[in-house]
Amino acid sequence: MSFIDLAAQRDLIRTDLDAAIKRVVDHGAFILGPEVNEFEVELGKFAEVDHVVGCSNGTDALAMPLRVWGIGPGDAVFVPSFTFAATAEIVTWFGATPVFVDVDAATCNMSLASLQAAIQDVLQQGNLKPRVVIAVDLFGRLADYPRLRELCNQHGLYLVSDAAQGLGATSNGLQAGHWADVVTTSFFPAKPLGCYGDGGAVLTNNAELAEGLLSVRVHGKGKDKYDNVRIGMNARLDTLQAAVLLQKLAVFPQEIIARNRIAAQYNALLGDIVQVPELSPQEVSTWAQYTIVVHSMDRDELAERMRQSGVPTAVYYPRSLHQQTAYREFPCAPGGLPVSEALSATVLSLPMHPYLSQSDQARVVSVLRQSVLRKAA
Ligand SMILES: *Cc1c(COP(=O)(O)O)cnc(C)c1O
Repeated sequence: MSFIDLAAQRDLIRTDLDAAIKRVVDHGAFILGPEVNEFEVELGKFAEVDHVVGCSNGTDALAMPLRVWGIGPGDAVFVPSFTFAATAEIVTWFGATPVFVDVDAATCNMSLASLQAAIQDVLQQGNLKPRVVIAVDLFGRLADYPRLRELCNQHGLYLVSDAAQGLGATSNGLQAGHWADVVTTSFFPAKPLGCYGDGGAVLTNNAELAEGLLSVRVHGKGKDKYDNVRIGMNARLDTLQAAVLLQKLAVFPQEIIARNRIAAQYNALLGDIVQVPELSPQEVSTWAQYTIVVHSMDRDELAERMRQSGVPTAVYYPRSLHQQTAYREFPCAPGGLPVSEALSATVLSLPMHPYLSQSDQARVVSVLRQSVLRKAA
């Protein structure tokens, strides 16, 4: 059994994939060829945004809007600590300061109370200027965008959705782009919508920002290719990856449905012995990870028992960012980040992908139940 099985999807769409890759090899436009724009248009329809700029990966996708907005030294960018390093990393590239915010225990997403306190604290200290909030749709579940938008409006802050895990997630049928100034995503192979290498995209309804992103993507180019109007990056999406993504996007909506069916099944079969992710009926997650919280026994011991029984699990993330060597010096929200720290010690992600068979899922469930109940006995 694999933790994420990419071969099942490949086998399903193999003929179309092979043909799409062959078309690119035949036409030879490997850099910004026609598939890149075709994919950007299709992704815009899917995500219900006006502008999509394909790019090199999900990390560069986060950096690009900060570059366009001119975020730099003296600017505070609020990020959750319980996330992948990229979310905070890019803030430091421009000399700005990431300010770590705690998350909610129930959703694993940015805590509004902690964010509010962090913003007040920065304002009181007076040495940094609040500029941007980067919310993460952790494990595929949307952050609380209606309230985040309100708070950002109050303080004149940009709102970024790091949807590397949550592209396609909805609340009341709306995706992150409905609220966020910009949505960024990653097509790393193991993400819900992945390509066959590195890839990413930046999505926005703001035409001016989109123009800036197109410029940043190619070294800050202006109308004249050799008059760069800003300092940019080399952050293009490969044509080959766009061709792969066009095929994968076609089956993505069905895959999200399958992921939700599997998650609901896990919830029903495990909810009595571990803390399972409960969504409200208005929410659809993309289930980048199906993550439980283990209170009744040591998380690492449970993972080890499951491994011995042939069931792979993973820990996202064993340390929050503020607990990591490179990030220790950056400010945290007042009162510290107790929830992030507790989650790092208790979360466990189970095998999850759209093609997980009923028998494999039954095996995950029975091994997990045995491990937890044997411990309790
Ligand atoms: C994967 C991920 C990224 C980075 O994406 P890459 O394509 O690997 O650069 C950023 N943020 C989050 C939350 C992620 O999960």
